[in-house]
Amino acid sequence: MIIDFHTHCFPDFLAEKTTEILRRRSGILRPAHSGTAASLLNTAKRAGVDHSVVLNIATNPHQQTKVNDFAISLLNTEGIIPFGSVHPESENALSELDRLYDAGIRGIKFHPDYQGFYCDEDRMLPIYEKIGRLGFITVFHCGLDMGIPLPIHCNAKRLGEILPSFSGAPVIAAHFGGFGDCENVEKYLCGKDVYLDTAYCSGVLPPAAAKEIIAIHGADRILMASDSPWNDPADSIELIKFFELSDEDEAKILGENAARLLNIN
Ligand SMILES: [Zn+2]
Repeated sequence: MIIDFHTHCFPDFLAEKTTEILRRRSGILRPAHSGTAASLLNTAKRAGVDHSVVLNIATNPHQQTKVNDFAISLLNTEGIIPFGSVHPESENALSELDRLYDAGIRGIKFHPDYQGFYCDEDRMLPIYEKIGRLGFITVFHCGLDMGIPLPIHCNAKRLGEILPSFSGAPVIAAHFGGFGDCENVEKYLCGKDVYLDTAYCSGVLPPAAAKEIIAIHGADRILMASDSPWNDPADSIELIKFFELSDEDEAKILGENAARLLNIN
């Protein structure tokens, strides 16, 4: 079983425009798909991916309902596991978590750079605590985003400090805890109860550094992820194979860990 834990798609009527804006902002020459759910699934199928976790982001408080309506609409699409999003400035953030939970959404994505908050701000605590109580899986964008100016709002150090707020509910640090930040990932995240995803890491993450982190942190808490359309899942799978891990560890990272988290057989 292969599960891609970090992908994106958009409502059909917005897909082309949104993909083009984000592509230009980040300098991505050839997105792996056009931005629609159908094209995401095609790319996933070509790569041999069985399930793609689609991470939606409410970039402002007014968008929260619409973004989550789209996430909920994807629940019926075979091969897609949609996550929802809450914005820290939305007065409905806490009740929106209930709505997502009741609809059957399994996880929440935060992109602190896009959403304009530092991940360790006190105002986030009630949201994190509620996420923990409901048992959502939480994905944090971590480290530099090529399309957004500095400062970085979530890095290995800040994230390492807030992990206890989730009361044991699973937390994932995207992009292997932040590009080029391997030293701090080892220092602040390795050995803690946190998952690292490999989104957008192919061609960026030095294999030797990645192998060292996997050895210290354990293959049980690494998740294969592409960031499709910004990376092709075929390349992200190849990156995991490139590490030349044991067959057992490779299978865990490619899908078994994700299947356990998502309760998929
Ligand atoms: Zn992403």
